[in-house]
Amino acid sequence: MSRLPVIAIVGAPNGGKSSLVNRILRRRQAVVSGEPGTTRDRSYSRAEWAGREFTLVDTGGMEPQAKVGLQALVTLQARVALEEADVILHLTDARTGPTEADAAIARELRRASGKVVLAVNKLDNPADDADRHLFHTLGEGEPYPVSALHGTGTGDLLDAMVSLLPNLDTDEEDELPRLAIIGRPNVGKSTLLNRLLGVERAVVSDVAGTTTDAVAGEVEAAAGDEVERYILLDTAGVNRSAKRAEGVPFYSALRTQEAIRRSDVSLLLVDAVEGLVGGDLQLARQIEEAGSSCGVVINKGDLVEPERIKEIEGTLFARMTDLKPPSISISALTGDAVESVLPLASRLYRAYNLRVPTHEIAEFINQAVGKSAPAKGVKIRFATQTGSAPPRFTLFANRPKDVQESYLRYLENSLRARYDLYGVSVRLRVKSSR
Ligand code: GDP
Repeated sequence: MSRLPVIAIVGAPNGGKSSLVNRILRRRQAVVSGEPGTTRDRSYSRAEWAGREFTLVDTGGMEPQAKVGLQALVTLQARVALEEADVILHLTDARTGPTEADAAIARELRRASGKVVLAVNKLDNPADDADRHLFHTLGEGEPYPVSALHGTGTGDLLDAMVSLLPNLDTDEEDELPRLAIIGRPNVGKSTLLNRLLGVERAVVSDVAGTTTDAVAGEVEAAAGDEVERYILLDTAGVNRSAKRAEGVPFYSALRTQEAIRRSDVSLLLVDAVEGLVGGDLQLARQIEEAGSSCGVVINKGDLVEPERIKEIEGTLFARMTDLKPPSISISALTGDAVESVLPLASRLYRAYNLRVPTHEIAEFINQAVGKSAPAKGVKIRFATQTGSAPPRFTLFANRPKDVQESYLRYLENSLRARYDLYGVSVRLRVKSSR
């Protein structure tokens, strides 16, 4: 898997974290409102600056003094985010000046392993700029002035943060692929995990680069003459220590997110009795946003008639038009068809890591353009694969802005059909050929 470096944004409630995140992502994804804590469920996004890709983690407001209640939980979440952050942005609010809460956060950040960058938000007028010097007292170095509202200062801030990111292009190729079984409570995740793991649970403490908590075990499947091995992430709290936090729904949602982010393949478990519900679609969206690959496993097939499975497959087809995930149906309880779970994962893993030689992709796109041309006057001159896991392609056109979304969809679907990219997000960018 590709571990991206992580930038976490922390700060007291209402400092403008989500507005800043929106600025950085250039899209309105997080919910922004005047109420403290409204982004407490919002977590990971992929972002890019100056050619560096990273994961941006937004946290709810941190109140280190809070010991109980929701605020304590949100603070706990922020701490989890800090654990894995390579760079931590401490966002403060010029309107309040450095507060007691800011000082408490600064104290906490001194113990974190990530590098800390301090920014002062809401400096909407250049005239107020001097206010930021008050924040030197926090002992976190030079404060960067920003206005999330106007977008000023964010470029310098991003430059500073990105320059502190570590280089993670290590030989992770050797690592085993990671598989996450994702699903709403009670769809049968633990039942399936335990089936896949069998009675002899692998010892996982020596799996490189993983915390024991996050891993349920290692699984093997025969693939022709070869044996494929996967690391199965613990999305159901089958590990004892993880189980402790299972009662806290917020925590299990966080674990799900984390598993999706770490996984190469996410299998979305759907309950055959309940059918495809909103929560399933939301998880599918999370999988897509995180850039993992997605297959659907319809579970509890023993409780329904075959027509019901067909019906769910129809709904899948109609509702999950972005990823078009492949699906199978099983019964984790009786073990029926469970042997087809790993082959599905394997198919997705191959699609996820697809690499097509440039001449082949150029030729393929050429043919697709021949079959159906883009808008009048638009010429697509060249295409190449620019990344994998998930696969990314770049097209070069004479008038990139005139290549319509619907046309990109057409090319995406052609690629999907040709290379079996079902369940994998296909990213197409258009650049100017001039
Ligand atoms: P989790 O919350 O997603 O980990 O779900 P569990 O694995 O704990 O399963 C929830 C309940 O559904 C348990 O009572 C399981 O025995 C039951 N269950 C899981 N898979 C199946 C299945 O394939 N068929 C039937 N009939 N019940 C199942």
